[in-house]
Amino acid sequence: MKTNHKRANKSMARYQKLLILLVLLVLVPIATRAYETERVVLVIIDGLRYSEGLGDPNAQYVPGMAALAEQGAIVDNFHNDGFTWTSRAIPAIWCGAWTEINTFSDPDCDGSTNNTTELPTVFEYYRQQLDRPATDCVYTLKALCPWKASLDPEYGPDYWPLYHAVGSTDEDVFQETEAVITQLAPHFLLMYLADVDHAGHVGVWDDYLQAITTADSLVGRLWDVLQADTAYAGKTTMLVTNDHGRHDYDFTGHGDGCEGCRHIQLLAIGPDIQTGLVSEIARSIPDITPTIGELLGFTTEAATGTALLELLEEVVGLESSQLPQRPELKIFPNPANPMTTMTFNLSLASELELQVYDLSGRLIRTILDHYQAAGQVQITWDGNADNGQALSSGAYIIRLRTETGVRFGKVVLLR
Ligand SMILES: [Zn+2]
Ligand SMILES: [Zn+2]
Repeated sequence: MKTNHKRANKSMARYQKLLILLVLLVLVPIATRAYETERVVLVIIDGLRYSEGLGDPNAQYVPGMAALAEQGAIVDNFHNDGFTWTSRAIPAIWCGAWTEINTFSDPDCDGSTNNTTELPTVFEYYRQQLDRPATDCVYTLKALCPWKASLDPEYGPDYWPLYHAVGSTDEDVFQETEAVITQLAPHFLLMYLADVDHAGHVGVWDDYLQAITTADSLVGRLWDVLQADTAYAGKTTMLVTNDHGRHDYDFTGHGDGCEGCRHIQLLAIGPDIQTGLVSEIARSIPDITPTIGELLGFTTEAATGTALLELLEEVVGLESSQLPQRPELKIFPNPANPMTTMTFNLSLASELELQVYDLSGRLIRTILDHYQAAGQVQITWDGNADNGQALSSGAYIIRLRTETGVRFGKVVLLR
């Protein structure tokens, strides 16, 4: 009797535990975002040549960004692979592609020339797909006539960002950015700093260097502002880049295909970004917008670039304190020749994607893309691409995305 009583108590305790777990699952909102990143801040420093920026091993003029790089990641081989001037390169950052530009006379700007992009922009993808108001998508820059929305019929003016075009110096733009953060707390913010390019064109070397030092300190101050704000701290990814560099033979100009014009900076820092990583994988301007989409959870369907997955935290095997947990991904055998089996457990039914990327972030194969019931999933991959072609030996990234999170794994093919 006594034993039976004990057993009954035990099963009652088990039942209570199950009940608590069920209640927790109902109370804890199911995470629909895959990353810890909830907000993205993009900074563009116009016309900063890499040799005076993070390309300088001593980081003489950019000590602030060098310090941030130690807490985040740099793509050392980052290039402008198209037009090395502002009016084409900045839209390429927005669109994730080298978009066509349409020029028109804008009555809102006293009839002066203005532009729109052919392809949708990061602002439009973000606002349309996530149904966000303009106040949640802010673009700060000095007082200029801002561009107008893309001509894409699915996107366009309804999804254009809120422009704060104020003042005449980078310091003015920074102060406006700080005010926007405090007052609007947008989930997506772009701060555009123009003074470095301007100082370069004026042609006084010391002024050019001073403009870089100022921009560098503003980036550091911006990160400090974000970390001191509870809406942003610990859940914001900041990306700092340039539209183009400057000639390696003449700092006053830019616009051709020389290495000085092409080689630019990509610094990333945030909760999903690896710490202290210097990536050598070749990347370029169109990869920025898909990276923002990956982090915030929207697609960038007209982009030609691909997300910088190699900068993201390797989360395989990492324990998450949140319920429900991201599924753990097992790959065996690894190295594979060429067959390998991927196994993971889904705690809840979920939309899922299981995909293979190459090391430059190109999607090679979609193994699974469907709604999956809870339970263990086991799937064999044959080492082939989507077109049936056998992939060559080497390392590939496996990306498992469910409604509760993203996991990455690496598989090596040895044929
Ligand atoms: Zn310029
Ligand atoms: Zn050049």
